[in-house]
Amino acid sequence: MSNPVKNVSKRAPIVAIVGHVDHGKSSLLDYIRKSNVVDGEAGGITQHISAYEVNWKTSDGKESPITFLDTPGHAAFSSMRERGVDIADIAILVVSAEDGAKPQTKESWKAIEKSGLPCIVAINKIDKPSANLDMVKNSLSDIGIFVEGWGGTVPFVGISAKMGTNIDELLDLIVIQSEIIDLSFDANEEGSGVILESFVDSKRGISATLIVKKGKVHAGSTIQVEDATSPTRIMENFLGKTIKEASAGEPIKITGFNKVPETGKTFTAHDKKRDAEDAASIFAQAIKNGNIFSDDFNFTEDFALPIIIKADTYGSLEAIEKEILAIKIDGVRFKIIQKDVGLVMEKDVSMASIDKTCALISFHTGIDKKAIETADRLKVKINSFDIIYKMSEWLSVYAEAARPKTEIEEVAGSLKIIRVFNRSKTSQVVGGKVFEGYLKNHGTIRIMRKETIIGKGKIIELQSFKQEVDEVKEGNDCGLMIDSKYDIAEGDTLQLIIKKIV
Ligand code: GDP
Repeated sequence: MSNPVKNVSKRAPIVAIVGHVDHGKSSLLDYIRKSNVVDGEAGGITQHISAYEVNWKTSDGKESPITFLDTPGHAAFSSMRERGVDIADIAILVVSAEDGAKPQTKESWKAIEKSGLPCIVAINKIDKPSANLDMVKNSLSDIGIFVEGWGGTVPFVGISAKMGTNIDELLDLIVIQSEIIDLSFDANEEGSGVILESFVDSKRGISATLIVKKGKVHAGSTIQVEDATSPTRIMENFLGKTIKEASAGEPIKITGFNKVPETGKTFTAHDKKRDAEDAASIFAQAIKNGNIFSDDFNFTEDFALPIIIKADTYGSLEAIEKEILAIKIDGVRFKIIQKDVGLVMEKDVSMASIDKTCALISFHTGIDKKAIETADRLKVKINSFDIIYKMSEWLSVYAEAARPKTEIEEVAGSLKIIRVFNRSKTSQVVGGKVFEGYLKNHGTIRIMRKETIIGKGKIIELQSFKQEVDEVKEGNDCGLMIDSKYDIAEGDTLQLIIKKIV
């Protein structure tokens, strides 16, 4: 059981390196590891483990641990781009300085945006003669990534993973980004996190690499991953050195599982072996009853919201289930992971605590006293209802709030530039015709030359027939003053951009 007294401190950021194939992800991971991790620190361990930790000393002398996910490209990690992003706190998007943005750059960016992770763009291979930073930034803006100085706020750094150029700058940037996000953890909380990889060693048994995301894992506790458990007697850090405890942010290797734990699944460290075994057996039972779907979360598609239902009768259960399946919210699927008749018990609460988005619903039934205590301890909310439509109303609101949000940019109108009247360092007076949609005063605009975005700007004055107006509609001429450092030319198109949360 977790200690109710908190012991909060900061943990290392977990960093995922993503991007198109061959743009240099492995080279970057190798360079950082080789230059910061002393191989042989623990007796010549050079074996590949799916994450490593560096203790980076920033340019202003601060020691800052950083954990890198370094997952090999085998089949289980085919969707690692998305999964890595899901586990990490910060993403590094590697883009080749020769090739610019490619399909997997876009895919990676989509996953980053979906999870809301802070991102740093690393433009790699700047040592190559054909490296072209402006081309890269342009190609990034084509897919909606606006780096600093190029109409956006995404930090970037030009690097060479081969020569080691600017890697220190990149590591400093990671530290700066990690200071912006809340990376605190409670050392008194039972450890939990994610399985990065599992393997069967013919001599030692079943091992797994885990990344601790919350609390602390102690030697003597028992790890539980779905229906698998393992003692923490054989616990090593990423160098293969035996350790007695591991805090949030650290990658560890545990040996002694009774069953191969699945990659990407969440683990919990229980102080009491019995608690771990109980939780595992609940899971085993749920799998047997068909209440656990074996299909994995698809991080790129819809968001699946897990639900546990306890109801007074089988009739109510059936009605609730039908009602839930009838709720339609874009981008959300409901996944009933467990349903049963009777009081809400401690095991239901434990199950709900595995995923923080899980909705535990109690319908027309009571809650066992121990379950109330456990819910309080694990901070699980039990949502009680007596009327079905109230439950579905609540669930719709809950799902909408839990759904990952993305901000998208939409073009609300376009104008063709007919004349450029004058130009100062930061503003330009231009005239043109709105040929699509509308333009709005003070709106953000994108400057397009043929099919390419050359920059962004803001309308600071909008005039129609020499009168200041708020909006100009399709088919009308207008004069504009634009605040932008990018030169607008006759024939360019200005697009009014509006941001939408979807
Ligand atoms: P990944 O598929 O993204 O992991 O890419 P790799 O790290 O395997 O790199 C692909 C190729 O690009 C390899 O041949 C690397 O040697 C090369 N490469 C990676 N980074 C650099 C760099 O900074 N400069 C140069 N010249 N080549 C690089």
